[in-house]
Amino acid sequence: MNEYDSTRIANLLLASHNLELTTTPEEADVLLLNTCSIREKAQEKVFSQLGLWRIWKQKRPNLIIGVGGCVASQEGQDILDRAPFVDLVFGPQTLHRLPQMLVDVQQHRNAVIDTSFPQIEKFDCLPIPKAEGPTAYVSIMEGCSNYCTYCIVPYTRGEEFSRPVVDVLSEITTLATQGVREITLLGQNVNSYAGIFPDTEDTTVDLAALIRYVAAIDGIERIRFTTSHPKDISESLYLAFVEEPKLAGHVHLPVQSGSDRILAKMHRGHTVSEYLALIERLRQSRPNISISTDLIVGFPGETAADFEDTMELVDTVGFDYAYSFIYSPRPGTPAIEYPDSIPIAEKQDRLLRLQALIKAKTQTANQRLVGSKQRILVERQARKTSQQLIDKMDKSIQELASSITGLETESMDKHWQQLAGRTEQNRVVNFIGPLDIIGRFVTVHITEALPNSLRGILCN
Ligand code: SAH
Ligand code: SF4
Repeated sequence: MNEYDSTRIANLLLASHNLELTTTPEEADVLLLNTCSIREKAQEKVFSQLGLWRIWKQKRPNLIIGVGGCVASQEGQDILDRAPFVDLVFGPQTLHRLPQMLVDVQQHRNAVIDTSFPQIEKFDCLPIPKAEGPTAYVSIMEGCSNYCTYCIVPYTRGEEFSRPVVDVLSEITTLATQGVREITLLGQNVNSYAGIFPDTEDTTVDLAALIRYVAAIDGIERIRFTTSHPKDISESLYLAFVEEPKLAGHVHLPVQSGSDRILAKMHRGHTVSEYLALIERLRQSRPNISISTDLIVGFPGETAADFEDTMELVDTVGFDYAYSFIYSPRPGTPAIEYPDSIPIAEKQDRLLRLQALIKAKTQTANQRLVGSKQRILVERQARKTSQQLIDKMDKSIQELASSITGLETESMDKHWQQLAGRTEQNRVVNFIGPLDIIGRFVTVHITEALPNSLRGILCN
């Protein structure tokens, strides 16, 4: 979500102030930090980064420093109290007001704060998006109204709000004309998407219907969505997995815990058996679907038995991959009040055990793909490849690449590099090929499974 917002900020400030992105922050005229406050550690990083920027500003007093995102939304004025050299504080829903805020700072040299939630206005004020490669995120909804007891998002990003269907589709059409082939529909809880149609404000379109509209856009070949909430998966979504081939076979479905008692305390709105039933339905709807998840360890009151239930769930489902975190108390959330007597060493121990199990499951899932052929959207150059490796490559692969790109083998030679793309199931694959195939779908024969990625050979 923050990556998407950052891209939009860059587009916006290029249009309004001709500000260009730089890779050398020391030389920037404006430094903006787009922040996350989901866990305390992410929040702490903000102030250590600002400490460094303070020194730069002492040397260059005209430097403008801004803090945006969820930490800004949560802390507001406190950021200026702690870091008075900051000029701008903006929230996730007011980033579109940055051009005016910049003007105000430049004219008055006074700090400007705006962390309100004007919601719909944001998208109306943003310029046409600029594609950066063949994949793109598109926000279909903002905020969250689920109020899981540990989570700060509803307080920092505001209540859930779905973008109108036409807005989403026109953004995607623009991206497709710039060469985007894969779209990830973004939101905190995309399963409850309900976008209005013009002239029919009393009827709304759900996620499955939106996916079908997106699939009909010229150039869009693959559609993903994230994040989905288990309690809101609909019949229409199962059907979309059966019927819509452009919908990628992967779902990120955070479960958080394998204990019903903890799930209830988290206010997640589903039980373990309901979650398992959803997984079953997803697998029936799309054989080979990959499933990933998020897990929280050490939620207040989590007993050793509750934790074992989580281990059992991970073992039973066999997630393709999972992100796991130690519970981090967030100010203003209900769970911060819950008695929490589990020692931190115990929580760390549980996390290590859980992560070892997840790693083994990921390894098994990756290993299963060795020997298969996967359709990959080639996204980018992975890293520089030695000429020696390229020279060793089989002539037949070079000829194959030549037939894909329509270029002579000789003219492609200098363009051969290690490339990266993702499978339909969202696994990263590295392979050697000509740079000219970036942005295209190719078939790759998977030869090796590494802990977090796969390696393969271009084939047909
Ligand atoms: N909206 C998404 C998740 C957004 S936050 C959903 O509900 O699925 C991403 C992940 O961060 C969550 O799934 C959760 O596992 C983790 N998370 C959120 N708040 C947390 C906290 N206070 N401590 C630890 N992990 C947290
Ligand atoms: Fe946070 Fe729950 Fe909303 Fe996800 S669904 S953003 S975890 S409140």
